[in-house]
Amino acid sequence: MSDLISLTLAEAREALTAKEVSSRELTSAFIQAIEAARPLNAFITETAEKALLMADASDKRRAAGNVGALEGLPLAIKDLFCTNGTRTTAASKILGNFVPPYESTVTQNLWSAGAVMLGKTNMDEFAMGSSNETSAFGPVFNPWRSRGSNTNLVPGGSSGGSSAAVAADLCLAATGTDTGGSIRQPAAVTGTVGLKPTYGRCSRYGIVAFASSLDQAGPMAKTVKDAAILLTSMASIDPRDSTSAETAVPDYEKLMAGSIRGLRVGIPKEYRLDGMSTDITALWDKGGRWLKDQGAEIFEVSLPHTKYALPTYYIVAPAEASSNLARYDGVRFGYRASNPHDITDLYERSRGEGFGAEVQRRILIGTYVLSAGYYDAYYSRAQKLRTLIKRDFEQAFEKCDVLLTPSTPGAAFGIGAKTSDPLEMYLQDVFTVTVNLAGLPGISIPGGLTADGLPLGLQLIGKAFDEGTLLRAAAAVETAADFKAKPAKWWTA
Ligand code: GLN
Repeated sequence: MSDLISLTLAEAREALTAKEVSSRELTSAFIQAIEAARPLNAFITETAEKALLMADASDKRRAAGNVGALEGLPLAIKDLFCTNGTRTTAASKILGNFVPPYESTVTQNLWSAGAVMLGKTNMDEFAMGSSNETSAFGPVFNPWRSRGSNTNLVPGGSSGGSSAAVAADLCLAATGTDTGGSIRQPAAVTGTVGLKPTYGRCSRYGIVAFASSLDQAGPMAKTVKDAAILLTSMASIDPRDSTSAETAVPDYEKLMAGSIRGLRVGIPKEYRLDGMSTDITALWDKGGRWLKDQGAEIFEVSLPHTKYALPTYYIVAPAEASSNLARYDGVRFGYRASNPHDITDLYERSRGEGFGAEVQRRILIGTYVLSAGYYDAYYSRAQKLRTLIKRDFEQAFEKCDVLLTPSTPGAAFGIGAKTSDPLEMYLQDVFTVTVNLAGLPGISIPGGLTADGLPLGLQLIGKAFDEGTLLRAAAAVETAADFKAKPAKWWTA
């Protein structure tokens, strides 16, 4: 078969079933593509040898008639998922040489379904960022460039290695995590599909923690169907995560089939921001028409507390991060400062040398908002706002089944363009953080290209544990958008 790497996950599954290709052949094609794409810096750790062993084992299972749901399909894994025996860094110097002695539940679910691991993808340090520029392993370059330009752009963040790997055909699909938008935003700016499931749908066990009440794992893929296939295997009920939902995992691939006739789609009016780019507003309007043309009802809804979402998120997330990251002290694992003269010096220098600037900023903000005297003014008010934001969604969902919004306020930007102003960077999440604060599922689907030829995404937000409807609506957008554009593979030139 020609051009194995550009197959979708569903197509590769068919080709394997029809014995047109073996997992070893498929895996080898991706290993070659990954080696050729090293200029993108999408992977922190490539695991070619392990991938071939897994592929051979999969081919053996298939020959014996023992075929899992993801049998033989090569995937890339965000370097936030602990993988037994394979270095897991969270893109931080402090975990630079950490080799977990255990496997995250999500990745275990994937391997149990027969999938093959190609490697661990680059990301923002501890998943803090929107551009993959906070990684201790260097930035990732977006496979996409503006028409006629040689300037490198960011692939979004924090799952920027995963989004770049999917967009550049370095894997069939990848895992990501989304605390405030880190699956949907990188998907949007790389022309790929990214799904953040309902909080509790995928286990957090073995995922390096950022903000525990917001973190959620999800699939990043080339198509909506591929995302549905992957989610079906990633999700599970996990006794090792107390926030894992006790809800049986349906077959999302089946649930996403069918028409959207009669689907009620809300357009939140507060998402129409002053000074929003015309590319984005035009795409958003088009998205509404696409759904309407397929039989959906479209109407305006109000989410009045939207304007408080970013400040709320940037208190809650750093607060939880400051607590979660207290464990990195140079004593038990990870980076340890050399020749400490006492225990305080060991703590201070291990953390000061081990964490990057953005992570330190979050720890400082988080510690501040949790400290005596400021807790009531910041943290507890943010928690109250979170409840109001959640209530906005509950009220909107009394009248509609899904919400349609842009995924991001703009297309991919240049490397370094926003690094000097953290607030400017935080604005990237304006359409996505609300969804995490409310614990809801959201998906970004490629909608079209800007005048400069860069991808833009549309976001659909669903009711809790209604990923089925969300995926069905997403498939309708995908069909209408008919997004076939691919980045020029400049890195192989
Ligand atoms: N960009 C957001 C942040 O920096 C979201 C990150 C994420 O979802 N992991 O916190």
